[in-house]
Amino acid sequence: MISIAIVLPTISVAYAALNRGSGIVFALAMAASVCLAYVVYYSVRWDAVGVHYRWLYSALFVLAWVGNFITKREQLITLSSDHSVYSMAIHIVLLCIFGYLSIVIASGYKWRGESISLTAPVESNGWVVHGGGTVAVNYHNGVKAQRYALDIIVLDENGRRGRTWLPAELNDFSSFGKSVLSPCDGKVLATENNQEDRAIGELRDDSPAGNFVLLHCHGNTVLLAHLKKGSVLVKTGDSVEPGRPLAKIGNSGRSSEPHLHIHAVKGKVMDMKMVIATGEPVALLINGEFSRRGDILHLNEKTSE
Ligand SMILES: [Zn+2]
Repeated sequence: MISIAIVLPTISVAYAALNRGSGIVFALAMAASVCLAYVVYYSVRWDAVGVHYRWLYSALFVLAWVGNFITKREQLITLSSDHSVYSMAIHIVLLCIFGYLSIVIASGYKWRGESISLTAPVESNGWVVHGGGTVAVNYHNGVKAQRYALDIIVLDENGRRGRTWLPAELNDFSSFGKSVLSPCDGKVLATENNQEDRAIGELRDDSPAGNFVLLHCHGNTVLLAHLKKGSVLVKTGDSVEPGRPLAKIGNSGRSSEPHLHIHAVKGKVMDMKMVIATGEPVALLINGEFSRRGDILHLNEKTSE
């Protein structure tokens, strides 16, 4: 994950900076580099190295472009070209690949059907690791009920997911033990509080949601899952309001690292199979916006960087 977060952005900037073509080859290479940059920006786990590095990456990419235009000004003006069929073919293929990937990612930032308005469900800045309307940006998407589910990591003060580059223990992750807040006015339908928090890499299917709080909000059912064992603060029948602490983030159930999983299904649903698999999906609008991979959720507002 770390190597991808460093190598891919480096390749992307180098591809733009080292463009040796001229005329149409130059234009093809730059178009392909923009598509690659878009894919890298929204695909890399920036929370592994620090989400603020996206700004550095963006700045370096723009610098590469500016440098290219300054040094290649004359070839561009005269449209002189080294129209080698070989180099043109390579850049056309790369443009097709990166352009296709860009479209796949961009198309995931749409939703259809019903939605529910929520407030942010975590106590401080959250990073959306999985979210959006297609499987390219949201691995939950293949399961009907979880079509618009979000996996949210709580970032530390350095914009990172953990204290070390390769956190191995649950306590190394900044999310572990952070408060989960009610995202809506509603009633508690059910809870689970006794599932063990799994060690990193211990994926088991016997209890996918692990510890959870199930809420009935605005005519829909909202699941908050993978909560820390023994941390659930509410019980069935309790009324909750936005911002009320419900539990703490854990790593129970089928979870690869400490994070909050949240999704909603239509109606009041008590059957966990329907909640998890077969229910009608409802898109989550957190602070008024459809959240997607790469978004940062703030406590009472959302920014998309
Ligand atoms: Zn999830």
